[in-house]
Amino acid sequence: MGECKLCLIRDIAEKADIYEYVKKTRAMLPDSEKAPDELYEERLNVCLDCGSLLAGTCQKCGCYVEIRAASKSTHCPISKW
Ligand code: SF4
Repeated sequence: MGECKLCLIRDIAEKADIYEYVKKTRAMLPDSEKAPDELYEERLNVCLDCGSLLAGTCQKCGCYVEIRAASKSTHCPISKW
């Protein structure tokens, strides 16, 4: 069996701190795909004011917003960013 890719939350919760996982996932993005820090923080601030944010997760798409916001090419599912 190959290396665990931490694909399921239940695996993540058992094996790694979620925030460490978020930081690692963001750090692994290539520079060409990584949202610049300013854009990343702007996006997260929009999420913080959004009623669909629940414990770091977007209730519209199910993503961890700190991961979704990390890629330049992603967008908010209801076009808030
Ligand atoms: S991604 Fe969009 S819908 Fe989801 S919490 Fe952020 S602003 Fe709200």
